[in-house]
Amino acid sequence: MDINFKKKTIVIYSLLVLSPLFWKGGADEAFSQKIESPEMRFAKLITPEDAKKHLSVLASDEYEGRETCMKGQKKAAKYIAENFKNIGLQPANNKNYFQKFPVMISAPDSVTMKAGKNKYQNFKDFYVSPYGRDLKLETKSILFLGYGISPQIEGTDTFNQYDDYKNADVKNKIVLVLGGEPMSEDSVSLITGTKELSDWATNFQMKTNLAKSKGASAILIVNANFDGSIKALRRFQESPAMKIEKGSPSRNMSADKENKEERKKIPQIGITIQTANDILASKNITVENLKKKISTTKQSLSFEIKSPLEMEIINKEDTVSSENILGMIEGTKFKDEVIFITAHYDHLGIRDGKVFNGADDDGSGTVGVMEIANAFARAKEAGFAPKRTIVFMTVSGEEKGLLGSYYYTANPIFPIANTVCDLNIDMIGRFDDNHKKDSAYVYLIGSDKISTELHQINETANATYTKLKLDYKYNDLSDPNRFYYRSDHYNFAKKGVPIIFYFNGVHDDYHKETDEISKIKFDLLAKRAQLVFYTAWELANRKNRIVSDVTEKEDAPQEK
Ligand SMILES: [Zn+2]
Repeated sequence: MDINFKKKTIVIYSLLVLSPLFWKGGADEAFSQKIESPEMRFAKLITPEDAKKHLSVLASDEYEGRETCMKGQKKAAKYIAENFKNIGLQPANNKNYFQKFPVMISAPDSVTMKAGKNKYQNFKDFYVSPYGRDLKLETKSILFLGYGISPQIEGTDTFNQYDDYKNADVKNKIVLVLGGEPMSEDSVSLITGTKELSDWATNFQMKTNLAKSKGASAILIVNANFDGSIKALRRFQESPAMKIEKGSPSRNMSADKENKEERKKIPQIGITIQTANDILASKNITVENLKKKISTTKQSLSFEIKSPLEMEIINKEDTVSSENILGMIEGTKFKDEVIFITAHYDHLGIRDGKVFNGADDDGSGTVGVMEIANAFARAKEAGFAPKRTIVFMTVSGEEKGLLGSYYYTANPIFPIANTVCDLNIDMIGRFDDNHKKDSAYVYLIGSDKISTELHQINETANATYTKLKLDYKYNDLSDPNRFYYRSDHYNFAKKGVPIIFYFNGVHDDYHKETDEISKIKFDLLAKRAQLVFYTAWELANRKNRIVSDVTEKEDAPQEK
């Protein structure tokens, strides 16, 4: 605060006390303004109205769902950078608000299949479930294996020990199985022993995993709902897989884990009944006959089909680019110590002709960061610049596997060692089913994992000012939702930077085209953003930088 400002305040206050206004209620206002702390004064600038103003732009159809590398994302980037400039943030990447990063897009370029003398057409006669690698398959014979079901794996007991794998040697073979599950003639499932179906009936992945565990090299599944599956698959493939570079994580998996998963994968090929009948022709049998046979004998059926099969997938890779947006307010006393406030501004784009606007995910966090930035900028203008530097960063590529934050932490603009913490906001505009009656809450994840001081500062800020219910339900690292690993703060945490993840939990509109602005609770959004603001204010202005005192490292629970 500069001296002139103080003097002026005293003069105005004295005049007020002496004036008749003092006795007409003017005094209360003047008094409360005097005791109000600066952080309270500027937290008030984070308003539901302002948040709505920005979100009405970013979550509108014009922004096309902000998919990474696409037009809508670029447009959103421009909007955010312009806002950072207008409110008075300095560009944080030298003279630039953008940190550009390369993105590798890979998509199948050609997928071909030949069986017997016939050539088949991708998406018409067959499809391959997302595989992510090039593939070349060649075989002289295919093994038919009933429905591809076995009680030999845990939790899949069959009612009468029906087992397609009983005497089969599938090692290195391509197997052909029927979709669904065997039924008796009176419509009783041979798997459950009732009219109800088991998971095997619809879960092709279970059949694929089983074939893989038995050593098969690929699985062909006769899909009676071929057209429905194609539709879902097309929707998925409209959104291409993206990576920063070879070996970098994608879709929220660590690189190691993903590589392991990918190596384990075998191709799952869905085929039409017609394609299956072609393949079975040399045996003079049809899908219909086979079903009947199993149904009457109640026994599995397996045989070798001496028919050659060739299949090839060639992927095409392209390198494009995306950008993180960084604005900052330089610290007055410890300018090398940097506090990050982050949110991802990308979302899922357009699928099946529908715009996924991602108002909550993570439009809410993005406008939260913009609002917090504005409050700090106004504070600076009034003489309350933070002692430590604050960087406001909105990242892209989150929905593709935390790409933007991965790139930033691998190529940091401010040394990681000087990065005090990351306060990450991902979805703060809604409430979930657990909080229908007490929506004034926020889930906190990770606050105590690296620095106990950070956890305490956030607790105190909330107890003093925002008084939300702090819910730590998802803070347990073994929680099956694995939220700790699923947003951008995780890339900071991996580098040892203390983090807090602010989150409202998932709801029915999560990752759907119905995640719309009309459903956002702006008063809740503003309140939660204020909590982040108060926490950041303390972190930026306290005497000592918070320390990282939690030493035991817990890794992501590994699946076998
Ligand atoms: Zn998100």
